[in-house]
Amino acid sequence: MFEMTAIITFVGSCIYLVVYFGNTLVHHTHYFSDEDEDDESAQEFTTNTVRCEYEYHRASSLKREGDEAVIRAVVSGETPSYSLESELGDCKRAAVIRRMAVERIAGKSLDGLPVDGFDYESILGRCCEMAVGYVQIPVGIAGPMLLDGKEFLVPMATTEGCLLASTNRGCKAIYASGGATGVLLKDGMTRAPVVRFGTARRAADLKFFVEEPRNFETLASVFNKSSRFARLQSIRCAIAGKNLYIRFTCSTGDAMGMNMVSKGVQNVLEYLRADFPDMDLIGISGNYCSDKKPAAVNWIEGRGKSVVCEAIIKEEVVKTVLKTNVASLVELNMLKNLTGSAMAGALGGFNAHASNIVSAVYLATGQDPAQNVESSHCITMMEAVNDGNDLHVSVTMPSIEVGTVGGGTQLASQSACLNLLGVKGANKESAGSNARQLAMVVAAAVLAGELSLMSAIAAGQLVKSHMKYNRSNKDN
Ligand code: NAP
Repeated sequence: MFEMTAIITFVGSCIYLVVYFGNTLVHHTHYFSDEDEDDESAQEFTTNTVRCEYEYHRASSLKREGDEAVIRAVVSGETPSYSLESELGDCKRAAVIRRMAVERIAGKSLDGLPVDGFDYESILGRCCEMAVGYVQIPVGIAGPMLLDGKEFLVPMATTEGCLLASTNRGCKAIYASGGATGVLLKDGMTRAPVVRFGTARRAADLKFFVEEPRNFETLASVFNKSSRFARLQSIRCAIAGKNLYIRFTCSTGDAMGMNMVSKGVQNVLEYLRADFPDMDLIGISGNYCSDKKPAAVNWIEGRGKSVVCEAIIKEEVVKTVLKTNVASLVELNMLKNLTGSAMAGALGGFNAHASNIVSAVYLATGQDPAQNVESSHCITMMEAVNDGNDLHVSVTMPSIEVGTVGGGTQLASQSACLNLLGVKGANKESAGSNARQLAMVVAAAVLAGELSLMSAIAAGQLVKSHMKYNRSNKDN
Protein backbone atom coordinates (compact mmCIF):
# COMPACT_ATOMS: atom_id res chain seq x y z
CA MET A 1 0.00 0.00 0.00
CA PHE A 2 1.67 3.26 -1.15
CA GLU A 3 1.21 6.52 0.55
CA MET A 4 1.01 9.85 -1.29
CA THR A 5 3.17 12.66 0.14
CA ALA A 6 3.29 16.30 -0.94
CA ILE A 7 6.08 18.67 0.08
CA ILE A 8 5.50 22.38 -0.38
CA THR A 9 8.45 24.76 -0.17
CA PHE A 10 8.25 28.55 -0.21
CA VAL A 11 11.21 30.46 -1.68
CA GLY A 12 10.58 34.19 -1.75
CA SER A 13 7.44 34.59 -3.80
CA CYS A 14 7.74 31.17 -5.40
CA ILE A 15 6.00 28.00 -4.36
CA TYR A 16 7.48 24.59 -5.10
CA LEU A 17 5.30 21.50 -5.03
CA VAL A 18 6.85 18.04 -4.86
CA VAL A 19 4.62 14.97 -4.82
CA TYR A 20 5.68 11.40 -4.09
CA PHE A 21 3.72 8.21 -4.55
CA GLY A 22 5.44 5.84 -2.17
CA ASN A 23 9.11 6.58 -2.75
CA THR A 24 8.71 7.68 -6.34
CA LEU A 25 8.80 11.33 -7.30
CA VAL A 26 5.68 11.61 -9.46
CA HIS A 27 5.37 15.35 -9.82
CA HIS A 28 7.37 18.45 -9.11
CA THR A 29 6.62 21.93 -10.25
CA HIS A 30 7.26 25.52 -9.26
CA TYR A 31 5.38 28.73 -9.82
CA PHE A 32 8.01 31.20 -11.00
CA SER A 33 8.39 32.89 -14.36
CA ASP A 34 11.81 34.57 -14.38
CA GLU A 35 14.87 33.23 -16.11
CA ASP A 36 18.54 34.14 -16.17
CA GLU A 37 21.91 32.76 -17.09
CA ASP A 38 22.09 30.31 -14.25
CA ASP A 39 18.37 29.56 -14.13
CA GLU A 40 18.06 31.10 -10.72
CA SER A 41 14.70 29.51 -10.04
CA ALA A 42 16.21 26.07 -10.62
CA GLN A 43 19.13 27.02 -8.39
CA GLU A 44 16.87 28.07 -5.51
CA PHE A 45 14.79 24.98 -6.06
CA THR A 46 17.95 22.94 -5.72
CA THR A 47 19.21 24.52 -2.53
CA ASN A 48 15.90 24.44 -0.70
CA THR A 49 13.89 21.55 -2.02
CA VAL A 50 16.45 18.96 -3.13
CA ARG A 51 17.83 18.90 0.42
CA CYS A 52 14.28 18.38 1.61
CA GLU A 53 13.82 15.47 -0.84
CA TYR A 54 17.20 14.09 0.22
CA GLU A 55 16.23 14.00 3.87
CA TYR A 56 12.81 12.56 3.06
CA HIS A 57 14.26 9.73 1.00
CA ARG A 58 16.76 8.68 3.61
CA ALA A 59 14.10 6.13 4.44
CA SER A 60 13.68 5.00 0.80
CA SER A 61 13.44 1.30 0.11
CA LEU A 62 15.78 1.51 -2.93
CA LYS A 63 18.68 2.11 -0.59
CA ARG A 64 18.24 -1.40 0.78
CA GLU A 65 18.75 -2.88 -2.71
CA GLY A 66 22.19 -4.06 -3.85
CA ASP A 67 24.25 -1.90 -6.26
CA GLU A 68 23.51 -4.11 -9.27
CA ALA A 69 19.73 -3.76 -8.84
CA VAL A 70 20.00 0.04 -8.56
CA ILE A 71 22.29 0.27 -11.61
CA ARG A 72 19.78 -1.76 -13.62
CA ALA A 73 16.95 0.51 -12.46
CA VAL A 74 18.89 3.56 -13.66
CA VAL A 75 19.94 1.99 -16.98
CA SER A 76 16.35 0.93 -17.71
CA GLY A 77 15.06 4.42 -16.87
CA GLU A 78 12.90 3.13 -14.02
CA THR A 79 14.89 5.25 -11.54
CA PRO A 80 15.94 8.68 -12.85
CA SER A 81 19.67 9.21 -12.47
CA TYR A 82 19.10 12.65 -10.90
CA SER A 83 17.10 11.14 -8.04
CA LEU A 84 19.86 8.80 -6.81
CA GLU A 85 21.06 11.07 -4.00
CA SER A 86 17.55 11.34 -2.56
CA GLU A 87 16.62 7.71 -3.26
CA LEU A 88 19.76 6.30 -1.64
CA GLY A 89 20.31 8.93 1.06
CA ASP A 90 24.03 8.53 0.36
CA CYS A 91 25.75 10.97 -2.02
CA LYS A 92 28.95 8.94 -2.45
CA ARG A 93 27.04 5.75 -3.28
CA ALA A 94 24.84 7.73 -5.69
CA ALA A 95 27.93 8.98 -7.57
CA VAL A 96 29.47 5.50 -7.77
CA ILE A 97 26.23 3.92 -9.01
CA ARG A 98 25.52 6.71 -11.51
CA ARG A 99 29.02 6.35 -12.85
CA MET A 100 28.58 2.60 -13.39
CA ALA A 101 25.21 3.19 -15.06
CA VAL A 102 26.76 5.81 -17.35
CA GLU A 103 29.58 3.43 -18.30
CA ARG A 104 27.04 0.74 -19.10
CA ILE A 105 24.80 3.06 -21.16
CA ALA A 106 27.73 4.59 -23.05
CA GLY A 107 29.62 1.32 -23.42
CA LYS A 108 32.74 3.26 -22.45
CA SER A 109 34.96 3.31 -19.40
CA LEU A 110 35.48 6.29 -17.10
CA ASP A 111 38.74 4.81 -15.80
CA GLY A 112 41.07 7.68 -14.96
CA LEU A 113 38.27 9.88 -13.63
CA PRO A 114 38.54 9.46 -9.84
CA VAL A 115 35.43 8.94 -7.74
CA ASP A 116 36.98 8.20 -4.32
CA GLY A 117 38.39 10.87 -2.05
CA PHE A 118 35.69 13.49 -2.54
CA ASP A 119 32.97 14.77 -0.22
CA TYR A 120 29.85 14.52 -2.41
CA GLU A 121 27.57 15.83 0.31
CA SER A 122 29.43 19.15 0.16
CA ILE A 123 28.21 19.77 -3.40
CA LEU A 124 24.62 18.61 -2.96
CA GLY A 125 22.15 21.35 -3.81
CA ARG A 126 25.03 23.82 -4.16
CA CYS A 127 27.75 23.14 -6.68
CA CYS A 128 27.09 20.21 -9.04
CA GLU A 129 24.29 17.82 -9.90
CA MET A 130 24.50 14.30 -11.36
CA ALA A 131 28.07 13.80 -10.06
CA VAL A 132 30.10 10.81 -11.31
CA GLY A 133 33.54 11.84 -10.03
CA TYR A 134 35.83 14.81 -10.24
CA VAL A 135 38.48 16.17 -12.57
CA GLN A 136 41.93 16.65 -11.12
CA ILE A 137 43.70 19.89 -11.98
CA PRO A 138 47.21 20.38 -10.62
CA VAL A 139 47.70 23.39 -8.37
CA GLY A 140 50.99 25.29 -8.30
CA ILE A 141 52.11 28.25 -6.24
CA ALA A 142 53.52 31.49 -7.65
CA GLY A 143 55.23 33.92 -5.37
CA PRO A 144 55.80 35.33 -2.96
CA MET A 145 53.98 38.26 -4.46
CA LEU A 146 54.81 41.44 -2.55
CA LEU A 147 51.67 43.56 -2.68
CA ASP A 148 51.10 46.66 -0.56
CA GLY A 149 53.85 45.52 1.80
CA LYS A 150 52.33 42.05 2.36
CA GLU A 151 53.51 38.74 0.96
CA PHE A 152 51.10 36.38 -0.80
CA LEU A 153 51.65 32.86 -2.11
CA VAL A 154 49.30 32.65 -5.08
CA PRO A 155 47.63 29.27 -5.83
CA MET A 156 46.90 28.59 -9.51
CA ALA A 157 45.14 25.54 -10.95
CA THR A 158 46.16 24.84 -14.52
CA THR A 159 47.29 22.26 -17.06
CA GLU A 160 49.22 24.84 -19.07
CA GLY A 161 52.93 24.28 -18.73
CA CYS A 162 55.04 27.45 -18.29
CA LEU A 163 52.18 29.42 -16.71
CA LEU A 164 53.29 28.98 -13.10
CA ALA A 165 56.97 29.33 -14.00
CA SER A 166 56.26 32.52 -15.90
CA THR A 167 54.01 34.09 -13.25
CA ASN A 168 56.56 33.14 -10.60
CA ARG A 169 59.27 34.97 -12.56
CA GLY A 170 57.05 38.05 -12.73
CA CYS A 171 56.51 37.87 -8.94
CA LYS A 172 60.29 37.65 -8.48
CA ALA A 173 60.86 40.76 -10.64
CA ILE A 174 58.21 42.69 -8.69
CA TYR A 175 59.62 41.55 -5.33
CA ALA A 176 63.17 42.52 -6.30
CA SER A 177 61.92 45.99 -7.30
CA GLY A 178 60.17 46.72 -3.97
CA GLY A 179 56.71 45.25 -4.63
CA ALA A 180 53.44 46.23 -6.28
CA THR A 181 50.75 48.64 -5.13
CA GLY A 182 47.03 48.16 -5.70
CA VAL A 183 44.02 50.45 -5.47
CA LEU A 184 40.39 49.35 -5.37
CA LEU A 185 38.44 51.83 -7.49
CA LYS A 186 34.93 50.42 -7.17
CA ASP A 187 33.11 47.44 -5.63
CA GLY A 188 29.63 46.63 -6.92
CA MET A 189 27.88 43.62 -8.45
CA THR A 190 25.19 44.24 -11.05
CA ARG A 191 21.95 42.71 -12.30
CA ALA A 192 19.76 44.25 -15.01
CA PRO A 193 16.25 42.89 -15.59
CA VAL A 194 14.37 43.71 -18.79
CA VAL A 195 10.78 44.97 -18.47
CA ARG A 196 8.34 45.89 -21.23
CA PHE A 197 5.56 48.48 -21.44
CA GLY A 198 2.84 49.30 -23.94
CA THR A 199 4.64 52.47 -25.04
CA ALA A 200 8.15 53.92 -24.96
CA ARG A 201 6.65 56.82 -22.97
CA ARG A 202 5.75 54.46 -20.09
CA ALA A 203 9.18 52.80 -20.21
CA ALA A 204 10.69 56.30 -19.90
CA ASP A 205 8.36 57.07 -16.94
CA LEU A 206 9.86 54.16 -15.02
CA LYS A 207 13.38 55.12 -16.03
CA PHE A 208 12.88 58.65 -14.65
CA PHE A 209 11.26 57.25 -11.51
CA VAL A 210 14.04 54.83 -10.58
CA GLU A 211 16.81 57.28 -11.51
CA GLU A 212 15.26 60.13 -9.49
CA PRO A 213 17.63 60.71 -6.51
CA ARG A 214 14.66 61.38 -4.15
CA ASN A 215 13.38 57.82 -4.75
CA PHE A 216 16.70 56.14 -4.11
CA GLU A 217 16.36 55.77 -0.34
CA THR A 218 13.01 53.99 -0.60
CA LEU A 219 14.19 51.66 -3.35
CA ALA A 220 17.41 50.95 -1.43
CA SER A 221 15.52 50.02 1.73
CA VAL A 222 13.33 47.58 -0.25
CA PHE A 223 16.41 46.11 -1.96
CA ASN A 224 18.48 45.82 1.23
CA LYS A 225 15.83 43.77 3.05
CA SER A 226 16.89 40.75 0.96
CA SER A 227 20.30 40.33 2.65
CA ARG A 228 22.42 41.28 5.65
CA PHE A 229 25.23 42.28 3.26
CA ALA A 230 23.81 43.41 -0.09
CA ARG A 231 23.50 47.22 -0.16
CA LEU A 232 22.12 49.04 -3.18
CA GLN A 233 24.53 51.62 -4.59
CA SER A 234 22.92 52.84 -7.81
CA ILE A 235 20.36 52.20 -10.54
CA ARG A 236 21.02 53.14 -14.17
CA CYS A 237 18.70 52.46 -17.09
CA ALA A 238 18.92 51.94 -20.84
CA ILE A 239 15.90 52.04 -23.15
CA ALA A 240 15.27 50.18 -26.40
CA GLY A 241 11.84 51.31 -27.64
CA LYS A 242 9.20 50.09 -25.17
CA ASN A 243 11.75 47.95 -23.33
CA LEU A 244 13.63 49.09 -20.27
CA TYR A 245 16.88 47.61 -18.94
CA ILE A 246 17.39 48.53 -15.27
CA ARG A 247 21.00 48.01 -14.11
CA PHE A 248 21.15 47.67 -10.31
CA THR A 249 24.57 47.88 -8.64
CA CYS A 250 25.14 46.79 -5.04
CA SER A 251 27.92 45.92 -2.63
CA THR A 252 27.86 42.24 -1.63
CA GLY A 253 30.24 41.84 1.31
CA ASP A 254 32.56 38.87 0.85
CA ALA A 255 30.29 37.14 -1.68
CA MET A 256 30.75 37.46 -5.43
CA GLY A 257 27.09 38.39 -5.15
CA MET A 258 25.17 37.19 -8.20
CA ASN A 259 22.51 35.35 -6.24
CA MET A 260 22.37 38.16 -3.71
CA VAL A 261 21.85 40.97 -6.21
CA SER A 262 19.19 38.92 -8.03
CA LYS A 263 17.21 38.56 -4.78
CA GLY A 264 17.33 42.29 -4.08
CA VAL A 265 16.29 43.12 -7.64
CA GLN A 266 13.30 40.80 -7.36
CA ASN A 267 12.15 42.65 -4.22
CA VAL A 268 12.37 46.03 -5.96
CA LEU A 269 10.48 44.81 -9.02
CA GLU A 270 7.67 43.54 -6.82
CA TYR A 271 7.56 46.92 -5.06
CA LEU A 272 7.51 48.87 -8.36
CA ARG A 273 4.57 46.84 -9.63
CA ALA A 274 2.24 48.79 -7.30
CA ASP A 275 2.94 52.06 -9.17
CA PHE A 276 3.61 50.48 -12.56
CA PRO A 277 1.01 47.69 -12.88
CA ASP A 278 1.43 47.74 -16.68
CA MET A 279 5.09 46.70 -16.30
CA ASP A 280 5.67 43.30 -17.91
CA LEU A 281 8.72 41.55 -16.45
CA ILE A 282 10.34 39.78 -19.39
CA GLY A 283 13.41 38.48 -17.56
CA ILE A 284 15.19 39.06 -14.26
CA SER A 285 18.35 39.24 -16.41
CA GLY A 286 18.17 41.26 -19.62
CA ASN A 287 21.90 40.88 -20.49
CA TYR A 288 22.62 44.52 -19.68
CA CYS A 289 24.15 43.25 -16.40
CA SER A 290 26.25 41.72 -18.12
CA ASP A 291 27.17 38.27 -16.79
CA LYS A 292 29.61 35.87 -18.48
CA LYS A 293 29.60 37.66 -21.82
CA PRO A 294 32.00 40.23 -23.25
CA ALA A 295 30.19 43.60 -23.02
CA ALA A 296 31.27 47.22 -23.20
CA VAL A 297 29.07 48.10 -20.19
CA ASN A 298 31.37 46.11 -17.88
CA TRP A 299 34.52 47.45 -19.51
CA ILE A 300 33.36 51.05 -19.07
CA GLU A 301 31.24 50.96 -15.87
CA GLY A 302 32.92 48.03 -14.10
CA ARG A 303 31.34 44.97 -12.47
CA GLY A 304 32.45 43.33 -9.24
CA LYS A 305 35.75 44.83 -8.15
CA SER A 306 37.48 47.49 -10.30
CA VAL A 307 41.19 47.47 -9.54
CA VAL A 308 44.40 49.13 -10.72
CA CYS A 309 47.76 47.62 -9.77
CA GLU A 310 51.22 49.02 -10.54
CA ALA A 311 54.95 48.53 -9.98
CA ILE A 312 58.21 50.14 -11.00
CA ILE A 313 60.65 47.48 -12.19
CA LYS A 314 64.28 48.48 -11.88
CA GLU A 315 66.47 48.46 -14.99
CA GLU A 316 68.79 45.88 -13.43
CA VAL A 317 65.87 43.56 -12.64
CA VAL A 318 64.51 43.88 -16.18
CA LYS A 319 67.94 42.80 -17.39
CA THR A 320 68.77 40.00 -14.95
CA VAL A 321 65.36 38.50 -14.07
CA LEU A 322 63.31 39.30 -17.17
CA LYS A 323 66.24 39.00 -19.63
CA THR A 324 65.23 41.95 -21.76
CA ASN A 325 65.37 45.76 -21.63
CA VAL A 326 62.94 48.57 -20.84
CA ALA A 327 62.80 50.05 -24.37
CA SER A 328 61.90 46.69 -25.94
CA LEU A 329 59.11 46.11 -23.42
CA VAL A 330 57.61 49.58 -23.90
CA GLU A 331 57.70 49.21 -27.68
CA LEU A 332 56.20 45.73 -27.60
CA ASN A 333 53.42 46.85 -25.27
CA MET A 334 52.55 49.75 -27.58
CA LEU A 335 52.47 47.64 -30.72
CA LYS A 336 50.94 44.45 -29.28
CA ASN A 337 48.71 45.20 -26.29
CA LEU A 338 47.52 48.63 -27.44
CA THR A 339 47.79 48.97 -31.24
CA GLY A 340 47.44 45.26 -32.07
CA SER A 341 44.39 44.90 -29.86
CA ALA A 342 42.86 48.07 -31.35
CA MET A 343 43.43 46.64 -34.84
CA ALA A 344 41.68 43.46 -33.74
CA GLY A 345 38.69 45.46 -32.42
CA ALA A 346 39.32 44.20 -28.88
CA LEU A 347 36.83 44.79 -26.06
CA GLY A 348 38.76 44.90 -22.81
CA GLY A 349 41.51 42.73 -24.30
CA PHE A 350 44.39 45.19 -24.19
CA ASN A 351 46.72 42.74 -22.50
CA ALA A 352 48.95 39.76 -23.25
CA HIS A 353 47.26 36.96 -21.28
CA ALA A 354 45.32 38.23 -18.25
CA SER A 355 42.77 35.42 -18.68
CA ASN A 356 45.48 32.79 -18.15
CA ILE A 357 46.13 34.02 -14.63
CA VAL A 358 42.51 34.90 -13.83
CA SER A 359 41.27 31.43 -14.84
CA ALA A 360 43.97 29.59 -12.91
CA VAL A 361 43.41 31.58 -9.70
CA TYR A 362 39.62 31.28 -10.11
CA LEU A 363 39.79 27.49 -10.44
CA ALA A 364 42.08 27.18 -7.42
CA THR A 365 39.95 29.40 -5.18
CA GLY A 366 36.43 28.22 -6.10
CA GLN A 367 35.31 31.21 -8.17
CA ASP A 368 32.75 30.90 -10.95
CA PRO A 369 35.11 30.11 -13.86
CA ALA A 370 32.66 31.33 -16.52
CA GLN A 371 33.08 34.86 -15.16
CA ASN A 372 36.61 34.70 -16.49
CA VAL A 373 35.13 36.42 -19.57
CA GLU A 374 34.67 39.88 -18.06
CA SER A 375 37.00 39.37 -15.09
CA SER A 376 39.89 39.18 -17.57
CA HIS A 377 39.15 42.61 -19.08
CA CYS A 378 42.48 44.37 -18.61
CA ILE A 379 44.59 47.14 -20.10
CA THR A 380 48.33 46.74 -19.54
CA MET A 381 50.37 49.93 -19.70
CA MET A 382 54.18 50.16 -19.82
CA GLU A 383 56.26 53.31 -19.72
CA ALA A 384 59.95 54.14 -19.25
CA VAL A 385 60.46 56.22 -16.08
CA ASN A 386 63.38 57.60 -14.03
CA ASP A 387 65.14 59.04 -17.09
CA GLY A 388 64.14 56.07 -19.17
CA ASN A 389 66.03 53.61 -16.97
CA ASP A 390 63.20 51.83 -15.13
CA LEU A 391 59.86 50.40 -16.21
CA HIS A 392 56.49 51.55 -14.90
CA VAL A 393 53.98 48.77 -15.50
CA SER A 394 50.30 48.68 -14.57
CA VAL A 395 47.20 46.59 -15.11
CA THR A 396 43.73 48.15 -14.89
CA MET A 397 40.95 45.61 -14.48
CA PRO A 398 37.39 46.97 -14.13
CA SER A 399 35.42 43.73 -13.63
CA ILE A 400 37.05 41.26 -11.24
CA GLU A 401 34.15 39.14 -9.91
CA VAL A 402 35.32 37.24 -6.85
CA GLY A 403 34.02 36.08 -3.47
CA THR A 404 35.33 34.23 -0.45
CA VAL A 405 31.92 32.89 0.62
CA GLY A 406 29.27 31.16 -1.51
CA GLY A 407 29.58 29.13 -4.72
CA GLY A 408 32.58 26.78 -4.82
CA THR A 409 34.57 28.65 -2.17
CA GLN A 410 33.47 26.41 0.69
CA LEU A 411 34.70 23.16 -0.90
CA ALA A 412 37.69 21.64 0.88
CA SER A 413 40.45 22.15 -1.73
CA GLN A 414 39.28 25.58 -2.85
CA SER A 415 38.92 26.73 0.73
CA ALA A 416 42.49 25.50 1.48
CA CYS A 417 43.75 27.76 -1.33
CA LEU A 418 41.79 30.72 0.05
CA ASN A 419 43.26 29.95 3.46
CA LEU A 420 46.79 30.10 2.02
CA LEU A 421 46.02 33.63 0.84
CA GLY A 422 44.58 34.52 4.25
CA VAL A 423 41.13 35.29 2.81
CA LYS A 424 39.09 32.20 3.63
CA GLY A 425 35.38 32.75 4.31
CA ALA A 426 33.66 35.83 5.67
CA ASN A 427 35.73 38.61 7.19
CA LYS A 428 34.21 39.04 10.66
CA GLU A 429 35.71 42.47 11.41
CA SER A 430 34.94 44.09 8.09
CA ALA A 431 32.55 42.31 5.72
CA GLY A 432 33.88 42.45 2.18
CA SER A 433 37.58 42.85 3.07
CA ASN A 434 38.45 39.25 2.17
CA ALA A 435 36.83 39.45 -1.27
CA ARG A 436 38.43 42.84 -1.95
CA GLN A 437 41.84 41.50 -0.93
CA LEU A 438 41.38 38.52 -3.23
CA ALA A 439 40.59 40.85 -6.15
CA MET A 440 43.82 42.78 -5.47
CA VAL A 441 45.81 39.54 -5.43
CA VAL A 442 44.26 38.52 -8.76
CA ALA A 443 45.28 41.86 -10.30
CA ALA A 444 48.82 41.64 -8.84
CA ALA A 445 49.21 38.10 -10.20
CA VAL A 446 48.06 39.37 -13.61
CA LEU A 447 50.68 42.13 -13.35
CA ALA A 448 53.35 39.46 -12.75
CA GLY A 449 52.04 37.34 -15.63
CA GLU A 450 52.01 40.28 -18.03
CA LEU A 451 55.57 41.29 -17.12
CA SER A 452 56.96 37.82 -17.63
CA LEU A 453 55.15 36.87 -20.85
CA MET A 454 55.87 40.25 -22.45
CA SER A 455 59.53 39.83 -21.52
CA ALA A 456 59.64 36.34 -23.04
CA ILE A 457 58.16 37.69 -26.27
CA ALA A 458 60.48 40.72 -26.30
CA ALA A 459 63.47 38.43 -25.82
CA GLY A 460 62.24 35.97 -28.46
CA GLN A 461 62.02 33.20 -25.84
CA LEU A 462 58.32 32.29 -26.04
CA VAL A 463 58.39 29.45 -28.58
CA LYS A 464 61.57 27.95 -27.14
CA SER A 465 60.24 27.75 -23.56
CA HIS A 466 56.86 26.34 -24.64
CA MET A 467 58.54 23.66 -26.74
CA LYS A 468 60.51 22.68 -23.65
CA TYR A 469 57.84 22.89 -20.91
CA ASN A 470 54.42 22.92 -22.59
CA ARG A 471 54.52 20.09 -25.13
CA SER A 472 53.54 16.55 -24.31
CA ASN A 473 55.41 13.70 -25.98
CA LYS A 474 52.73 11.23 -24.95
CA ASP A 475 50.71 11.35 -28.19
CA ASN A 476 53.76 11.33 -30.51
P1 NAP B 1 25.41 32.98 -2.16
O1 NAP B 1 26.03 31.79 -1.50
O2 NAP B 1 24.18 32.75 -2.97
O3 NAP B 1 25.09 34.08 -1.06
C1 NAP B 1 26.01 34.38 -0.05
C2 NAP B 1 25.49 33.90 1.29
O4 NAP B 1 26.50 34.07 2.29
C3 NAP B 1 24.28 34.73 1.71
O5 NAP B 1 23.34 33.87 2.32
C4 NAP B 1 24.89 35.70 2.73
O6 NAP B 1 24.00 36.13 3.72
C5 NAP B 1 25.96 34.83 3.37
N1 NAP B 1 27.08 35.58 4.00
C6 NAP B 1 27.59 35.31 5.23
N2 NAP B 1 28.61 36.12 5.51
C7 NAP B 1 28.77 36.93 4.44
C8 NAP B 1 29.66 38.00 4.15
N3 NAP B 1 30.64 38.40 4.98
N4 NAP B 1 29.53 38.61 2.96
C9 NAP B 1 28.59 38.23 2.09
N5 NAP B 1 27.70 37.24 2.32
C10 NAP B 1 27.79 36.58 3.49
O7 NAP B 1 26.56 33.69 -3.01
P2 NAP B 1 26.47 34.73 -4.19
O8 NAP B 1 27.85 35.27 -4.28
O9 NAP B 1 25.33 35.67 -4.08
O10 NAP B 1 26.23 33.80 -5.44
C11 NAP B 1 27.29 32.98 -5.87
C12 NAP B 1 26.74 31.86 -6.67
O11 NAP B 1 25.96 32.39 -7.71
C13 NAP B 1 27.80 31.02 -7.31
O12 NAP B 1 27.50 29.67 -7.08
C14 NAP B 1 27.66 31.35 -8.77
O13 NAP B 1 28.06 30.28 -9.58
C15 NAP B 1 26.21 31.65 -8.88
N6 NAP B 1 25.77 32.48 -9.98
C16 NAP B 1 24.47 32.87 -9.97
C17 NAP B 1 24.00 33.66 -10.98
C18 NAP B 1 22.58 34.11 -10.95
O14 NAP B 1 22.15 34.68 -11.92
N7 NAP B 1 21.85 33.90 -9.89
C19 NAP B 1 24.84 34.09 -12.02
C20 NAP B 1 26.17 33.72 -11.97
C21 NAP B 1 26.63 32.92 -10.96
P3 NAP B 1 22.60 36.88 3.38
O15 NAP B 1 21.61 35.76 3.20
O16 NAP B 1 22.31 37.73 4.54
O17 NAP B 1 22.78 37.65 2.11
